Amino acid sequence: MSLSEQQLIEALRPVTDPELNVSIVELGMVKGVTARRGRVSATIALTVAGCPMRDEVTRRVRSALLEVRGVKGVDVELTVMTPQELEAVRARVQGRSADPQAWQQGQAGGGGHSHGHSHGGGRQPLGHEEGRPNPFGPQSRTRVIGISSGKGGVGKSSVTVNLAVSLAAAGHDVAILDADVYGFSVPGMLGVRQDPIVDDLKMLPPAAHGVRCISMGFFLEDEQPVVWRGPMLHKALEQFLVDVAWGDPEFLLVDMPPGTGDVALSMAQYLPTSEMYVVTTPQPAARKVAQRSAYMAKKLNMPMRGVIENMSWWTMPDGSRQTPFGEGGGSQLAGELEVPLLGQIPMDPALREGGDTGQPIVTSAPDSEVGRAFSDLAGAIVKRGKARVFRSELTVR
Ligand code: ADP
Repeated sequence: MSLSEQQLIEALRPVTDPELNVSIVELGMVKGVTARRGRVSATIALTVAGCPMRDEVTRRVRSALLEVRGVKGVDVELTVMTPQELEAVRARVQGRSADPQAWQQGQAGGGGHSHGHSHGGGRQPLGHEEGRPNPFGPQSRTRVIGISSGKGGVGKSSVTVNLAVSLAAAGHDVAILDADVYGFSVPGMLGVRQDPIVDDLKMLPPAAHGVRCISMGFFLEDEQPVVWRGPMLHKALEQFLVDVAWGDPEFLLVDMPPGTGDVALSMAQYLPTSEMYVVTTPQPAARKVAQRSAYMAKKLNMPMRGVIENMSWWTMPDGSRQTPFGEGGGSQLAGELEVPLLGQIPMDPALREGGDTGQPIVTSAPDSEVGRAFSDLAGAIVKRGKARVFRSELTVR
């Protein structure tokens, strides 16, 4: 039986680039694939020479080709894309037409591309530089989900990561923006080990467990404390939104800093379709604090869509429940805000361990009580549907 090139390309179509989550065939990474007496040679062009995912790409290509009947062996040769090919990839993942000139003009206007924060202070509408539109503007298909909390330590980042991975496991295309400038815990919890790839054209977010992630923490010196002035934070957020090849995700989860403040203000301006969810514990005191972030959302005209209660109970080996943080805080807060209580996440040391090792509990133990609580929560958020926001982009000057 002879193997046609078309047949082999079809076999490669389901293979996705681990960082961009898009088919390598669609991205134009397959430069050639031929077969001789059952032995296939495939040439794959990587987006950058030092691609940390080269072994993973090779593995995926090899296993997809070995599935084809009649294939006995596979040789994979890796090359690197030309700048023109890269440009086409960038256009593909950003859903724009390839126009290198427009991009370069945008670059000249943007400056400081490979740095997470710039020291400029102007409050301009997002994408004001030519050729760099806001990928999450009013027309975007993306549901932007802000995860907030009144105070730190209630499990907001753990909820963000496990919710994102649950959504991805249910087949959704998901990305996280870690904007919790006091913590930056998302990459570690998600298990992202490499920094984003930054080249002249774009910043590619690294991915783990099917979720792409950009964290401001990627761009800071290790362990350096940062004092974020509002305008600096605002500018950094703008860069993340326009300079990252987000790839038009269905969901963008934003891990917000606890409390109220500048990030919420920038989100209201840059992410006009943002919907807000608040994480709280069952304690009455936590509820009061969480209420403040809800009021802030209201002031900024961002729809508050639901409450997520974390650390709700602890299930004993005999099946009984202990409630070390009290009971009822989540449902009371939901009642006060007139939104649904969308989920209650029990306590489980495996959740913390999963966060520490970068293996979220929803992947290591999807059928555990906590794993099921997260998949139910993901289902409830999907069911809730995109918020209808009838307001124009807020401009803050
Ligand atoms: P925040 O983002 O609100 O500051 P984190 O997600 O960093 O909170 O969580 C704080 C700590 O609590 C982390 O060590 C985390 O692993 C742990 N934690 C969060 N939720 C749970 C839970 N349901 N069960 C057990 N540990 C949890």
